[in-house]
Amino acid sequence: MKPAIHPEYHEVTAHCACGASWSTHSTRKDLHLEICSNCHPFFTGRQKLIDTEGRVDRFTKKFGAQTVEQRKTAEKAAKAKKTRKPA
Ligand SMILES: [Zn+2]
Repeated sequence: MKPAIHPEYHEVTAHCACGASWSTHSTRKDLHLEICSNCHPFFTGRQKLIDTEGRVDRFTKKFGAQTVEQRKTAEKAAKAKKTRKPA
C-alpha cells in the first residue's frame, strides 16, 4: 500500500435500526444503519413496507384508500364501457 493516501480502516460494530449488531470493518468509526440482512424483506421473505417519510399516508389522504376489489370492479366497468362503443 502506498503510504499516506489510504483512509484509516477501523474494526467497528454496525448497528441496525432493527436492533441487530455485528462487527465489521469500515473507514467510519461507527455505523448506524436503517436496514440490514436481518430485517430486509428480501431476506426475511415477509412483505414489510418501510415508510420513513409518510409518503404512503400522504397518498392515501390525497386519493383515499383503495382495495383490490374496488379496483377490479372499476376496471370491469371501464372495460364494459369500451366494448359497448361502436368500432
Ligand atoms: Zn436490521
